[in-house]
Amino acid sequence: MRNAKVWHRLLGVERTVIEAVEFVEETDTVVASVRPRQRGRQRCGRCGRRAPWYDRGEGRRRWRGLDLGVVQAWLEADAPRVNCPEHGPTVIAVPWARHNAGHTHAFDDQVAWLAVRTSKSAVQALMRVAWRTVGAIVARVAADARVRVDRWADLRRIGIDEISYKRGHKYLTVVVDHDSGYLIWAAPGRDKKTLRRFFTALGAERCAQITHVSADGAQWIADVVAERCPNAVRGADPFHVVQWATEALDQVRRDAWNAARGGKGQSTQQSKALKKARWALWRNPQDLTQAQQAKLNWLAKTHPRVHRAWALKEGLRVVFTLARHGAKTEAKHALQRWISWARRCRIPAFVDLQRRITAHQEAIHISIDHDLSNARMAFGYADPHALIGLGLLALGGLCPPLPGRRHQHALTR
Ligand SMILES: [Zn+2]
Repeated sequence: MRNAKVWHRLLGVERTVIEAVEFVEETDTVVASVRPRQRGRQRCGRCGRRAPWYDRGEGRRRWRGLDLGVVQAWLEADAPRVNCPEHGPTVIAVPWARHNAGHTHAFDDQVAWLAVRTSKSAVQALMRVAWRTVGAIVARVAADARVRVDRWADLRRIGIDEISYKRGHKYLTVVVDHDSGYLIWAAPGRDKKTLRRFFTALGAERCAQITHVSADGAQWIADVVAERCPNAVRGADPFHVVQWATEALDQVRRDAWNAARGGKGQSTQQSKALKKARWALWRNPQDLTQAQQAKLNWLAKTHPRVHRAWALKEGLRVVFTLARHGAKTEAKHALQRWISWARRCRIPAFVDLQRRITAHQEAIHISIDHDLSNARMAFGYADPHALIGLGLLALGGLCPPLPGRRHQHALTR
């Protein structure tokens, strides 16, 4: 094969013999016939161990590689099977692609890199793949990286959270490392069984090293943590506490809105204005536009109760702002004052919230002392494996570099 070195670099393959390269005019593609170098042949595709020959498998196979300029590139090779002592008849390992993948390493890595950084439509158009394929690639790149990079060695302070997907119909349980800030584990489901799988995988010794766990107030999380992490103290996540307050505020606003509609299902001027005020109520005071500030002022005059609920929510946020800036004692005092204020506020949603917060006061104090705050994230995938894969790549520090960037040349034009 002439120019073999050039073709190796162009196709981004290693430990591979390129037998021939052909340009297929009808499909506007380049097809390279390849095979693994002698020493790398006859290894199980799943475990990489040497294994005896089994059969020819399904004959020739193709793998999509990165485009060469403006044309698509494919690798083509035999895909015989070996008889692995552990896995039985399995297609051999190939140096240019992951097991069972239809794309090369370089192609996979570039898709993963783009999925983390750009839009869905940009990845699809640039790489000429379907979104489902992107999801499958993201899942396998993440699974691969998880095996190679150990992010579990020195876990001390972790956060456990449930996040919804499919518009709130399904849930993932996620675990973050508060010291590194990385997402380190995620799985479909939100129950004891799911969370136990994480601690089982972590192992008893590493579980014993965990000193702090933050979570929302969910009992199933508390139970499993108590059972598996003997040395950990639990904290209530500030994000969740403020979220509880936002929900209580929304309840108050909805009640006022319904009252303004007079229960007749008609929109009055008052109810419309209240509905519009929602955005002003949700934002942090320093982020309010002039128009939103005016709405708040209007609320103070026309719906003092809603306005008072807003002030209560803001008061709670201040507690955690103080904590974040290291004013721990002030934060605890502020929390104490907030509780007595809420107890006397005569707004049922906030009296309830006050009870809930009093019940979690110790956990909140732990949070204040240790500045635990769960990482927040948003996903757009419907397939949990793609979702988890993207989460681990984007938030777990596992995203591969773009292919061919190992040699750090200065950027040229
Ligand atoms: Zn095997």
